[in-house]
Amino acid sequence: MYNAKAYSARSATSPLAPATVARRDPNEHDVQIEILFCGICHSDLHQVRNEWSGVMPTVYPCVPGHEIAGRVTRVGSAVTGFKPGDLAAVGCMVDSDGTCAECRAGLEQYCPNLTLTYNFPDKHLGGVTYGGYSDSIVVDERFVLRVPSKLDLAGTAPLLCAGITTYSPLRHWGVTQGKKVGIVGLGGLGHMGVKFAHALGAHVVAFTTSPGKKEDALRLGANEVVVSRNAEEMKKHAGSFDFILDAVSADHDINAYIELLRRDGNITLVGAPEKPLAVSAFGLIMGRRSLSGSPIGGIAETQEMLDFCGAHHITADVEVIPIQKVNEAYERLLKADVKYRFSLDMASLKSE
Ligand code: NAP
Ligand code: ZN
Repeated sequence: MYNAKAYSARSATSPLAPATVARRDPNEHDVQIEILFCGICHSDLHQVRNEWSGVMPTVYPCVPGHEIAGRVTRVGSAVTGFKPGDLAAVGCMVDSDGTCAECRAGLEQYCPNLTLTYNFPDKHLGGVTYGGYSDSIVVDERFVLRVPSKLDLAGTAPLLCAGITTYSPLRHWGVTQGKKVGIVGLGGLGHMGVKFAHALGAHVVAFTTSPGKKEDALRLGANEVVVSRNAEEMKKHAGSFDFILDAVSADHDINAYIELLRRDGNITLVGAPEKPLAVSAFGLIMGRRSLSGSPIGGIAETQEMLDFCGAHHITADVEVIPIQKVNEAYERLLKADVKYRFSLDMASLKSE
């Protein structure tokens, strides 16, 4: 066991502050990674503030962070895929049973014995897992991803959650050339959704509450941008979408988007607001439309997504900040004031 530097929250109302956490020494299947960048996901904020108390109550101290990119520093004797010096990445999962039907299908995210990267029971040390707002992490090789060498590392870190969470449902719902696809909410997830839907060849419409993001949305790959607070603009698209991805972090009217789907169209929620959303039955009934959800993606698909990003030169648009600015960044997230992901430069943790 050794001590790693980290930033943790002591309660739902306390700011993140410097701390040390225990990490295990790498066992034979483990990879130890020096964390160079960690993205700030809105899920980190929901979890730190215990906004998901009904589903995943937060255990304190909480060290969030599941968009991890760095360099391998040590490997266990049985590790074959990584060696010290390699670039490596870790997302939202660090373990699963590896034997259930979901794991065998490469869908570890549905494993009943999944271990998430933070705030989940730690099988090795007891207590809970600690995430990537830290200088290092030790993870079973099965959950470590390879980073395409040409990609900027600060912009690669967010691919590990924002990237895979948008890539996976776009692929699952058959987004391709000729499909009309909506992406709702231009935050960390949404801006990746626009990039991927564009790269997959779809006609992409971005929906935003922030008129100031219009130009950016077009630059990111949207064919059209709709300011969703404008009912007239929304109406023009009624009954026309094959697929809509909803990446909004707060309460909003999902029925306004259901109305935009064509017959048999699907809207998938990846955004996970604190409070339940009200759904009109008729919106779904008329047009046999469907509403789904989707959590991250499996390990094989995450690697596929990273390789796709390598081939298409896709990374997140990031604002790189030192860890000391993390609390300010959370306040800005709540104001939808980020273009389009904060990426923590973990070198800043050395001065703590
Ligand atoms: P984010 O960067 O904060 O982006 C959220 C965006 O939602 C904002 O930029 C804003 O976009 C829009 N928005 C915010 N408040 C709104 C409101 N009141 N009404 C309408 N739109 C609003 O968050 P993120 O990191 O992308 O995460 C988005 C959500 O996905 C969070 O709930 C997060 O927990 C969840 N998540 C889920 C998974 C999964 O596996 N399913 C994985 C990661 C994250 P505009 O300015 O364009 O309107
Ligand atoms: Zn996330």
